[in-house]
Amino acid sequence: MNSDTINHMASAIRNAILAHEADIEGLDREIGDGDHYINMKRGCEAITNISAELAALPAADALNKIGMKLLSTIGGASGPLFASFFMSMGKSLKTSEHTDTLAIALAFESGVHAIMQRGKAQAGEKTMLDVLIPVASAFKHLAEQGRSAKEIALGLKNVASEGLESTRNMLATKGRASGLGERAIGHLDAGAKSCQVMIHTVCDLVGNS
Ligand code: ADP
Ligand code: MG
Repeated sequence: MNSDTINHMASAIRNAILAHEADIEGLDREIGDGDHYINMKRGCEAITNISAELAALPAADALNKIGMKLLSTIGGASGPLFASFFMSMGKSLKTSEHTDTLAIALAFESGVHAIMQRGKAQAGEKTMLDVLIPVASAFKHLAEQGRSAKEIALGLKNVASEGLESTRNMLATKGRASGLGERAIGHLDAGAKSCQVMIHTVCDLVGNS
C-alpha cells in the first residue's frame, strides 16, 4: 500500500458516502441527532483536499496525517473515534515486521482497538464497532491463512454487511441512542452504516484491481 492507493481509496470513499446521504442521514435522525452524514461528508472532503500533501508521504505517515486532519475537522462522537483509528493504523504500519496484506490487517485491528479504547465500547453496543470488530478479526484470520487480496475483499464485504444488520435488534448502550432504550430496537446504527459503506468501497476497489 502506498499513498497513491490511499488517495484513490479516500476519493472513492468520499463518492460512496455522498451517494449514501439519504440512508446515513436518515439513520442518525431516527435514533441520533441527524448530524452523522454531515460529519462524514466534512471528514471526507477534508481528506480529499489534502491529497497532494498525502501523496508526498509514505503510507504510514499519510494515515497518521489523515487521523490528525479528521480530529480537527469532524465534530461529534465519531470524529475522535475515526481519528484514533487512522493514527493507530499509521503507527502500527510504521513499525510492522509483516508483509503487505498481514501488515495492513494487523494495522486495521490496531485501529479498531484504538476506537474501543477511546470510546470505551465493546461489540454488541449498537455502534460502528459492530461492523469494525468482526471485520478486523476476519481480515486478520484470512490474511494469516495467506488468502489473496481479492478473496479477502469478498469475504470482508459479507462480514461488514452482517455486522451492520446485527445492530438492528441491539439496545444501544453507547452514544446518543443509548438514552432511547427499547425504542432504538428495529433501527440500524448510523456509524455502522457508514463503516459498512466505506468497507464495501475499499473492498470493491481491491476486488476489481
Ligand atoms: P454524535 O453521536 O456526537 O452525533 P455522529 O453522529 O457523527 O456523532 O456519530 C454517531 C455514531 O458514532 C454512532 O452511530 C455510533 O456508531 C458511533 N459511536 C458513538 N459513540 C460511540 C462509542 N463510544 N464507541 C464507538 N462508536 C460510537
Ligand atoms: Mg449524530
